[in-house]
Amino acid sequence: MSKRVVSETLYNGYAQSFTVDKVLFEIKTEHQHLEIVETPFMGRVMLLDGVVQTTEKDEFMYHEMMVHVPLFAHPNPKRVLIIGGGDGGIVREVMRHKNVEHVTQVEIDASVVDMCKEYFPKHSAGAFDDPRLNLVIADGKDFVANCTEKYDVIIADSTDPIGPGEVLFTSDFYADEKHNCLAAGGIMVAQNGVPFMQGQEITNTYQRLGKLYKDASFYVAAVPTYIGGFMSLAWASDDETLRTQNAEQIQARVAAAGFATRYYNADVHVAAFALPNYLRQLMQ
Ligand code: SAM
Repeated sequence: MSKRVVSETLYNGYAQSFTVDKVLFEIKTEHQHLEIVETPFMGRVMLLDGVVQTTEKDEFMYHEMMVHVPLFAHPNPKRVLIIGGGDGGIVREVMRHKNVEHVTQVEIDASVVDMCKEYFPKHSAGAFDDPRLNLVIADGKDFVANCTEKYDVIIADSTDPIGPGEVLFTSDFYADEKHNCLAAGGIMVAQNGVPFMQGQEITNTYQRLGKLYKDASFYVAAVPTYIGGFMSLAWASDDETLRTQNAEQIQARVAAAGFATRYYNADVHVAAFALPNYLRQLMQ
């Protein structure tokens, strides 16, 4: 009997597909279609609304770059806000920073957290039980609109701007996020799609963040299952020097933190902000 194949539905006419050894879990939650499948090459894969969210084999690349770039760029991050990130990879990497004293995570879909705890235990690796974490099940849009606490670093690890994630790419969201939630000297980062495939997302985000921050830009990371070339991560702060630190400055903090990584290092941190011309041309 031929094996089932799952093809991603993010793009018309171009897709990645996975041979499926077993469908481990599938549900239509209140917010989205959640599938978790076992595959021979990437290990377990989670899809939301047919779009690959994370895989066991390559998740470290994305989660290390989403977290360690802002947390080692910030001189002393104590409070972190995570929007989305229900699989637990982001909060796992944040908790490795022992100088971080408090983390609030706002995830819209409790099913994602529950199923990823069960089927991707290495993603969160116990981070959901860290006493520093306050996990809030809510829409990130509503949270930032009513937020009264400030955070040194904000990480938006959302789905793409389709379905529940769409609101997390709007000017209103970015404005509330900055005015209500970001501490002075703070940094925000957000997953911002694959520029070769989703170029308009670069232009939209750059225009929206550029109206709110003195320094808006992007950095990139190669994540195999975010197909179409490297993944862009939006960056914004009101202090350009936070983005332009050299490898020696970053390495001093990496060494002090004292933990190993598999993708991230101080040289990769600096190089990630070097953007190719076709991406720069989208920033206008
Ligand atoms: N790394 C993936 C990527 O780059 O596409 C994202 C992974 S993570 C699973 C995305 C999370 O965003 C999901 O758990 C989803 O439920 C959550 N999410 C989507 N819209 C949201 C919203 N409006 N507020 C909070 N969480 C949201």
